[in-house]
Amino acid sequence: MMTKTLLALTGASLALGVVATPAHAAPNDKPLVYIFVLDGLDGDLYDQGRLPGIKGLVDKRGTYYQESRAIMVAETNPNHTAMITGAYADTSGIPGNDFALYGNGATSVDGCPLDGVSNGPVSVGLAPECVQAQTFFQSTATKSTRDKVTSAGIFGKPKLATLFAAKRSKKKYAADYLWTPCQSTKTDYCRKTPLNVWGYADDKHTMDAVLASVREGVKSENGKRKKANLTFVNLPTIDSTGHSYGAGKKYRKAAADTDAQIDRFVRQQRKLKLWSRTVLFLVSDHSMDTTPDKITLRDVLIAAGIPAESFIVVQNGGTDMVYLTDRTSPDRFDLLHRMRQAALAAADRGIDEALYREPNPTDGDAANTLDGVHPAWHLNGERTGDLVVTHATGGAFSDPINPTNGGHGGPFTTDNFFAITGGWKGLVKNGTVSGVADARFDDTQANPGQAENVDVAPTALRVLGLEPPRDNRGRVLTEAFKGW
Ligand SMILES: [Zn+2]
Repeated sequence: MMTKTLLALTGASLALGVVATPAHAAPNDKPLVYIFVLDGLDGDLYDQGRLPGIKGLVDKRGTYYQESRAIMVAETNPNHTAMITGAYADTSGIPGNDFALYGNGATSVDGCPLDGVSNGPVSVGLAPECVQAQTFFQSTATKSTRDKVTSAGIFGKPKLATLFAAKRSKKKYAADYLWTPCQSTKTDYCRKTPLNVWGYADDKHTMDAVLASVREGVKSENGKRKKANLTFVNLPTIDSTGHSYGAGKKYRKAAADTDAQIDRFVRQQRKLKLWSRTVLFLVSDHSMDTTPDKITLRDVLIAAGIPAESFIVVQNGGTDMVYLTDRTSPDRFDLLHRMRQAALAAADRGIDEALYREPNPTDGDAANTLDGVHPAWHLNGERTGDLVVTHATGGAFSDPINPTNGGHGGPFTTDNFFAITGGWKGLVKNGTVSGVADARFDDTQANPGQAENVDVAPTALRVLGLEPPRDNRGRVLTEAFKGW
């Protein structure tokens, strides 16, 4: 039903001859794209009227996707990577905030650093080389597009700056401008800024950096200062508050405060007479759950007689990834089958599902695989664990330790937030686009008119008249723009 409505809307716009052609727009009408990630924001808060500033913008001109979805694993790094590349976790290189690789005795795999040296699975460190899909910083830094795009990455979380600080030459980053607060390791793009207990800048300081980048411009390709027309921002405070206190009153207050920071941005755009050029993507990477019930999967497996040296568990909040020490042994299917049985036997302690990476001939072949049960997750890649175990709502894994009061990572936290708004006349006034919701939010195939985080990259680049990054599998959100 929703798709038909959208088609009708698009058709009406076309019939009226309202066509926006960004590539041919007059210079002073050329759109400026800003992608703000409101880290950890649950879209339900928008539905409850707790984001009055953003709602006011969307009501005036914009589209709110009520059943938008994060990708699995519902963690920060995979979802920011999805937004900036258009790739899901099976091909982006980043299946979790934490994951493991098989180095076969080397200290890195394809440039992605390992935390140790072994022939079995080793957890990875953080480096731009870990991202295998092309980012939009990289695709817009190619020779043919360089002069069309000035890009900026402003990240309250330093780990995201690290992940997206790929270089295009010895001296130059793919992004024209990078900003993040300095931690113990200094970089040439970090700035001295107060950090919260999680090591992140708060949203006020991060927004200060965004406002300065607009006012002063950033150093562009030819060395002159220019306004960025592709800015990617991470605002961490909602997420930090959710982890510290759970998804209750303080979390809702943090969301309202970030809503006010967006208002600060809008006011400056208006004051600088840039509002009519402004296209805003207001998105969250995942939502948030209060998670008092913790379970240590490693203990569950060992109690069931699984040898401790046969696997490692890599925790991602509500999702655990189990990697086999020997993932090619002919015995692996039986071992994984026993692991799956042990995990599912702990259903009364919060374990929801346990799914294989590859078909298991001892246990239903493809029936119990990630692709067999949740094809729309697109999680079945080489870097994914051999067994992926998820937690029900209200809890998380503790492998080896997870003292947070709130968190995310499992399918129940993929109900994110996604709106496109701004002052640019090419935006359609759709208001709320509703859809259907599945119990685990694995419903993107039933919601072709909704948005996923992989849709950010292709849509943002289309606004600038450009093709998506190389590995994109997202959809251009045509219904949100006139004449597309
Ligand atoms: Zn996050």
